[in-house]
Parts: sequence; C-alpha cells; structure tokens
Amino acid sequence: MTVQLTQLKTAVETESEKLLGCIHCGLCLQACPTYLQLGNENDSPRGRILLMRSVVEGKLELENPKFERHIDLCLGCRACETACPAGVEYGHLLESTRAALVRHNVKEPDTLPKKVLRKALRELFPFPKKFSRVMALNRFLRDSGLLQFALWLKPLRNLMNKVSPQAEFATSLLLSTRPVFTKALGRRRQRKMLESVAVEDKTLNEKREVSVFTGCVMEGLFKHTNDATARVLVANGAFLVPVKAQVCCGALHAHAGELEIAKDLARKNIEAFENHYKSLVIINSAGCGAMLKEYGELLKDDEKYAPLAHEFSSRVRDVSEYLHKVGVREGAPIEQKVTYDAPCHLYHAQRITSAPQEVLKAAIPNLDFKPLDGMQDCCGGAGIYNLSEPEMSDKILTDKINKVKATGADLLMTANPGCHMHLGAGCRTKGADCKVVHVVEVLDESYRKAGYYNQESL
Ligand code: SF4
Ligand code: SF4
Repeated sequence: MTVQLTQLKTAVETESEKLLGCIHCGLCLQACPTYLQLGNENDSPRGRILLMRSVVEGKLELENPKFERHIDLCLGCRACETACPAGVEYGHLLESTRAALVRHNVKEPDTLPKKVLRKALRELFPFPKKFSRVMALNRFLRDSGLLQFALWLKPLRNLMNKVSPQAEFATSLLLSTRPVFTKALGRRRQRKMLESVAVEDKTLNEKREVSVFTGCVMEGLFKHTNDATARVLVANGAFLVPVKAQVCCGALHAHAGELEIAKDLARKNIEAFENHYKSLVIINSAGCGAMLKEYGELLKDDEKYAPLAHEFSSRVRDVSEYLHKVGVREGAPIEQKVTYDAPCHLYHAQRITSAPQEVLKAAIPNLDFKPLDGMQDCCGGAGIYNLSEPEMSDKILTDKINKVKATGADLLMTANPGCHMHLGAGCRTKGADCKVVHVVEVLDESYRKAGYYNQESL
C-alpha cells in the first residue's frame, strides 16, 4: 500500500511544535540506551526526531523500512526527556509516530511474538473477563510447579529452547511474579485484614479518602502487591474507596501505536472513577501511573472528555509519591540488604526520582540500602520490548544485572510490573542471587514485623 507522505504529517501535526522544539544539541545522546549500544545517530533521540521531521517534510517515506526499524528499536524509556534542556516531549512524538505506522498498516508484525502481542493488545487487554481467565491460567502455570520442573529438567529445557529461543526467558518472566513475602489473600481475608490494621493514633482523626487503581497485569499476576499496597495505605491513615468498573489503563496500547484503543480505555476509566471526584487515585505501577497522568494529553481533542481527563489526571499519585507527601509511618527493621532500580516511567515520565528511596529510609530503621549504579537507566524490559526486540533488550539487561550483582543486595526493589518481571528473569537467567520485589512490599513486610497487622490473616 502506498502511503502518502502527508499522512504522518496529519498524524503528528498536533505535535509539530514538539518536533521543531529540538535544537539538535545532542545532550540526550548519552542518556539513550539504544544509541549507547549501537553508536548509530539514527538510533538516538536526536536522530529519530530528525527522521520524523524528514517524513513530515516529505523528504523520507513513511513506508521506508529503515525508518520503521529505527522507531521500533526505541524503548520509549523517555530518558531523553529528562536530559533535554529544550523540554522536547519525545514520548508523545514517539506515540504519534507509532500510531501513524499502525493506522496506515505500513508493515504488519513480522515475528511470532510481535503478532501474538498485537493480537493480545487488540483482543485481550480491553476485555476484563477474557483477560482475567488468561491471568488465571498463568497463575496456575506459575504456582503449580510445572514451569519450575520444565526449567529444572535439562532435556525439557533444551526442547523448550529449540521450540523458541525465548521460551526459557519467557518462562522466567512469569516465575518472577511469585510473591517474595506475603501471598495474595482471598477477598474476604483481605477485607478482614484491612479492618484489623492498627492505625496510628494521630491518623485516626484525619483519615484520607483514596481509591486504588488496581490495573490488569497487577491484579492478574501481582495481586499480592495490590494487597500490600492497600494494607500500607490503611496503616498510614487512608480510607479506601473501591472502584469496581476500572479497566486496563491503555499504556501498552499507546506505546505500541494503538492510540484509539488507549483512548477508549481512558474514557472507561474516567467514567469508572467519576463518582469519586474527591478521592486521590493511588497507583503502584509506574507505567500505568504515567499513562493515567497523561489522560488529559491523550484526550485533548475529545470535546466531551478533555476536561474530565485533565481533572482525573490531576488526582493520580504514585503510592510512593503519596506516602512521601503525607509522611510515612515507621515500621520495624528488615534484615535483607536492599537496592532500588527506578522504572523509567516513574523516574523520567513522572519525574519521581527519590520518593521511593526516601519513603523506605524514613519508614524502615537501619535500612541496609545499597545504591545501584545507573539506577535511572532502562532495564530493557520496556513493556513488551523484551519479547519484540529480544536482542537489544538482552544487551541492556546484561549491563543492568552486572550492576545489580555489584551491589551485593538480597532484594532488588522496583515499582512497575514490566520491570519487575524483566529484572526477575534477568536475575534468574544471569546468575544474580537477588529477589525482585515492589517497594511497597518491603514496606508491608516491615509493618508486618512491627505488628500492625492481624498476623492470623496473612
Ligand atoms: S525513549 Fe529511550 S530509547 Fe527512545 S530515543 Fe529516548 S532515550 Fe533513546
Ligand atoms: S537534548 Fe533535546 S534539544 Fe537536544 S538533541 Fe536531544 S531532543 Fe533535541
């Protein structure tokens, strides 16, 4: 299909000012993981912006396979935005470009993982019932011991790797979602547990109403983290208002160019939360949090939803951002040495750079915190990038895991499901003796040890 050169211009015309904002200074180059790996200007932020401009100006065809390749290889980590003195909003440019490529069918997904992922984004993630059935199957595989057995038995492992070179890594991704501390509780036990959480005297009279955005992958594979988040919030004086009709946030769709699906999901979430206008929306997944905070931008051309989206986005807080602001309660010491790897969508997209570490240091006495060199650099997970671009992803992950090993930490903390799974699989396959946990789970464990919870429920 021949694509008119003007089509990308149409798709990114609202972003043209952002394209022109780049002054080509190159300060973003050393922050870009793909440029550092490949040394190719076209795989740098400045290079990609120039390529986008060339398409808009008619000097380069949208259907040029090299153009798509350079765009595909971008992790969407947005480290270039943090480094950029001109405030270029690269993330929005990337999303618009990918949306143009998808809309005009420039190239269908060309590998099996890309085809499966595209199908899942369109036919699975937007449908909560279907999605939760697939998550239940994944939990069964994770918890039944079948996958551990397959990895343990060498002939079976070899067979898996013959079928797909990514099979062992993909299996490790799923296994890394197993809880390190407290398992997910059934609905009734968690409710009883929340009713019995000991709240500090000083917070009794100032309960703050909040709603938790539970997410799709978070609720499917990390319910133990969602449970821990709720307990920690209640222990810090929050009053939880449940919001039932919430759906997937649409972040993976926006990053993959499926902007129309992302917009539909955003509208559903805004409607789901509209009866709770007074409460803050607390989220523990960095990628979803960044998306929720950008609903205003995503729906800016939607006359009906634009003001609602801005209002909704203004109420969204990452859980560490919230606890940092209200003042976190002190728990008990934990024995393990810990380190922290910042999710790109917390550090670069939301610019929450130190709240997770500060909250932990304030709450956990004598915390043995080991700083991680390059903690703000992408781990290579980048949503579904680890499956769609395994080679580049693996190079970036290898660097990261070597740095994790150098810390000597027992626990590697992060705050995003994609990073959690990618780092967990990296530790497992690259020989790091380190378990991956969410920041809030460490806080929850400290509170459990401090006796704030009814231990029988756990
Ligand atoms: S988003 Fe990340 S990978 Fe993409 S250009 Fe920016 S720094 Fe490079
Ligand atoms: S730092 Fe900003 S202005 Fe400078 S080249 Fe990169 S994107 Fe352009």
